Amino acid sequence: MTERFDGPALPGTSSADPMMELMTESVSPQGFDYLIVGAGFAGSVLAERLANDGKRVLIVDRRPHIGGNAYDRYDDAGVLIHPYGPHIFHTNSREVFDYLSRFTQWRPYQHRVLSSVDGQLVPIPINLDTVNKLYGLNLTAFELEEFFASVAEPVEHVRTSEDVVVSKVGRDLYNKFFRGYTRKQWDLDPSELDASVTARVPTRTNRDDRYFADTYQAMPLHGYTRMFENMLSHPNIKVMLNTDYREIAAFIPHGHMIYTGPVDAFFDHCYGKLPYRSLEFKHETHPVEQFQSVGTVNYPNDYAHTRVSEFKHITGQKHDQTSVVYEFSRAEGDPYYPVPRPENQELYKKYAALADAREDVTFVGRLATYRYYNMDQVVAQALATHRKLSGQKTGAQAVTTG
Ligand code: FAD
Ligand code: UDP
Repeated sequence: MTERFDGPALPGTSSADPMMELMTESVSPQGFDYLIVGAGFAGSVLAERLANDGKRVLIVDRRPHIGGNAYDRYDDAGVLIHPYGPHIFHTNSREVFDYLSRFTQWRPYQHRVLSSVDGQLVPIPINLDTVNKLYGLNLTAFELEEFFASVAEPVEHVRTSEDVVVSKVGRDLYNKFFRGYTRKQWDLDPSELDASVTARVPTRTNRDDRYFADTYQAMPLHGYTRMFENMLSHPNIKVMLNTDYREIAAFIPHGHMIYTGPVDAFFDHCYGKLPYRSLEFKHETHPVEQFQSVGTVNYPNDYAHTRVSEFKHITGQKHDQTSVVYEFSRAEGDPYYPVPRPENQELYKKYAALADAREDVTFVGRLATYRYYNMDQVVAQALATHRKLSGQKTGAQAVTTG
C-alpha cells in the first residue's frame, strides 16, 4: 500500500525559462520591493511576511526547488524522503509554532535515536537505560546521578565540546559516544570545537529516550515542501528557481535585498573562505516495511557514515517499502554546517562588519549569519527581521542575534 500526499503545483513557481516569464508577464514597471535570495526557511518566512504587508517580492533560489535544506519529495518508490538529511521539527517557541501552523497541519512525532556502541544499540541522549545496558548494571535514577558524579572530570571553565561531556559523564562515555562521532562529523577533535556543539545533546538520569525535549514536536502533516508552497502561494510573491541571484539582480528592478546564502560567498570570499562542513547523502530503498527500529541510528565508532535515518518513522507514511539515508561528512561540497570555534567566529565577525555596512541588504539564516541554527531558530530570526524591516522605511542592518 502506497500512501501519497500529492497536491496541486505551486502557483507562481516557474523552473522553465524563468527570466523570460518574468520579463513578459510579471515585472511591473516599478519592479519588486524586495529581492530575496534563497527559498529556505529564512527566505520563505520573510517573503510571506512582506507579501502580507503588501510588498511585491521576488524570491530566487539556485536550486530547482523551494524549501532549502528542509525540502522533501517522494522518491522513485513513492516514499517521502528528505534529500538533504532528516529534518525533525521541534521548538519551545509558541510564536514559531503558531506562525507555521498557518501553513500546515501537524503530525505529532517524537524523534528517538539509538547509538551503536560496543555491539549494542543503546539510547542517545545518554540516559538510565543507556548506562545500565552498556555496563550491565541495574542502577536507579538516583544511583546514576552518583555514578555520573563519580566518573565526571572536574573542568573549571567549560569551553569546548570535550569539556561539556567529560565534566558530566566522564571519559569512558565520552569516548564511546562523542569523541568518534564528533571527529567523523567535523574532522576536528571535540577539544577544538565550541561547547555549544555537543551541548546540543543533553544527558539524562531518567528513562526519557526522546532526542528532543521541546514543548512542540511535530512534523508537517503533508511534508515541508507543501508547507513552503502554502507560504509562498501569494499573489505578491514571484518564485524563480534554478537561478543564482547574480544572474538577475542587475536586470530586474528591485528595492531591498534579503540574502540567506553563505555570507562569505556574498563578499567573494574577500577575507578567505569561512569554513562550512558539508555532507554526502547516500539514499537507499529497501523492499521491507521497516529497516531499523527508530528514526535514526548513530554510528560513533564504526563505519564511515555518522548516522542512518529511516524516513517512514519520521513522516508516519505507510508503505510496503522503506527508504533510508546514510550521512557522510565532507570538507567540500554544499555548505551545510557552520563550524563553531573561536577562530571561525573571528573570521565571521569580519564578514559581519561588511554585512552591517550594507544598508541595501539584510543577512538572515543559518549560512548568512554563520550560526548553527535549527529550523525553528531560523524562523524566529526571520520573524524578528521582519519586525525590524517593517518598522524601518529604508535599508536594514544585518541581524546579529537570533
Ligand atoms: P537554507 O535552507 O540553506 O536555504 C538557503 C537557500 O539559499 C538554499 O536553498 C540555497 O540554494 C540558496 N542560495 C544560496 N546562495 C544562493 C545564490 N547565490 N543564489 C540563489 N540562491 C542561493 N533543523 C531542525 O530544526 N531539525 C532537524 O532535524 C534538522 N536536521 C538537519 C539535518 C541536516 C543534515 C542539516 C544540514 C540541517 C538540519 N537542520 C535541522 C537545520 C536546518 O536545515 C536549517 O536550520 C534550515 O534549513 C536553515 O534555513 P535557511 O533558510 O537559513 O538556509
Ligand atoms: N554528537 C555526538 N554523538 C552523538 C550525537 C551527537 O558526538 O551520538 C555530537 C556531534 O559533535 C554532533 C553534535 O553532537 O555534531 C550535535 O548533534 P546533533 O544530533 O544535534 O547534530 P545535527 O542533527 O545538527 O547534525
